[in-house]
Amino acid sequence: MRAWEVNQPGPVDSGPLRLVERPVPEPGPGQLRIRVSMCGVCRTDLHLIEGDLPAHQPHTIPGHEVVGYVDRLGEGCADHQLGQRVGAAWLARTCGHCRFCCQHRENLCLAPTFTGWDIDGGFAEYMVADEQFVYQLPDCFEDDTVAPLLCAGIIGYRALRRAELPTGGRLGMYGFGGSAHLTAQVALAQGATLHVITRSAEDQELARALGAASVGGSNDRPPEPLDAAILFAPAGDLVPPALAALDRGGTLAVAGIHLTDIPPLHYQTHLFQERTLRSVTANTREDGQELLAVAERIGMRVTTTPYPFEAVDKAVSDLAHDRFSGAAIIRVAPAADRRRSSSVMQRR
Ligand SMILES: [Zn+2]
Ligand SMILES: [Zn+2]
Repeated sequence: MRAWEVNQPGPVDSGPLRLVERPVPEPGPGQLRIRVSMCGVCRTDLHLIEGDLPAHQPHTIPGHEVVGYVDRLGEGCADHQLGQRVGAAWLARTCGHCRFCCQHRENLCLAPTFTGWDIDGGFAEYMVADEQFVYQLPDCFEDDTVAPLLCAGIIGYRALRRAELPTGGRLGMYGFGGSAHLTAQVALAQGATLHVITRSAEDQELARALGAASVGGSNDRPPEPLDAAILFAPAGDLVPPALAALDRGGTLAVAGIHLTDIPPLHYQTHLFQERTLRSVTANTREDGQELLAVAERIGMRVTTTPYPFEAVDKAVSDLAHDRFSGAAIIRVAPAADRRRSSSVMQRR
């Protein structure tokens, strides 16, 4: 099969990715083999490719917003059928018995496995995934529009919950890419007033179109105090202004897995009056199922920029340089193959 692997982590424009031939993987016990249709490109992929996150195995295949069709069942698989559409996401497996797994906090598992980091991901024609960790995808979404929900959607949803926005509250978003534009729709559907800070003119336009009450550039301050804020941009220097924009008792949630250094904070300006700063770490499967259900209920609009499989390196570079709006997706299977898969599904 054809696959994109991280050859040598480094700056995206120095060619860290390469297109290679690999054997088609065989599913182990409890695993499904997925013929990949679409795979979204997430900022975490960029961090892995550039080496901001240390490699967990050499020559990893990134990609963890994977939509595909079950093509082979490993020993003991009981819950899936051949030809069924599934989604594979960042959380590939948890240990199931550590103190966090036992407290329904599997996102904090002490021995987790992540797709595209510990095991090979979806920038390839095939991948294997644990059948207990794949998602059933709502029929109302095509393969391309559901792919970004699998990380951008899920992590943003968890970040929104971690931000503890009160009903009808004032929410700030710092950065407005793939994850924020989905999370904004969940918040707006809950009655939030949304203020967006982003330097990209195209992202500002998307924020306005989705219903933001105000939109500003990185030096602007939201026009009213915020009950909650989410930092999507991987920029630690936005933490102080985002904290300063919070009302008393407000919470800032940092959605990313990697952040540049946070400048010194001033206790009175940034934290006193019970402002809270918190991180978001992965997600539970329950978060994922909830987000997919919410997306279906509110008819979430997913803005995508598609790339052919041969252009994975360009998609990742464009993400690094903010060259598109919304979410980048890779069309892994040719369109004819995707249609064949969906007609197989309809006959079932
Ligand atoms: Zn665990
Ligand atoms: Zn991701």
